[in-house]
Amino acid sequence: MCTTKTYGVTSARKKHTCTWCWEWIEVGEPYEWYFCFESMRKVKMHPECMIAMHKWDGPDADLGELPVSGTYRRGKWGED
Ligand SMILES: [Zn+2]
Repeated sequence: MCTTKTYGVTSARKKHTCTWCWEWIEVGEPYEWYFCFESMRKVKMHPECMIAMHKWDGPDADLGELPVSGTYRRGKWGED
């Protein structure tokens, strides 16, 4: 595990791009983030995308290996 714990932000102070769905996290929207030490970057996601990622992050998955940004839709994992 190469990451910090996940932190929740209730209101974004500036616009961010969601690592999962590649859509904007607008100012004032909630988001969650963690820091990945392997890639040395802060990963920010919509709360629903973080939930989707945890579904994706099964026993065989490494949280440090994220899917290519924009591979998944907001709050969705796979085809569901
Ligand atoms: Zn998202």
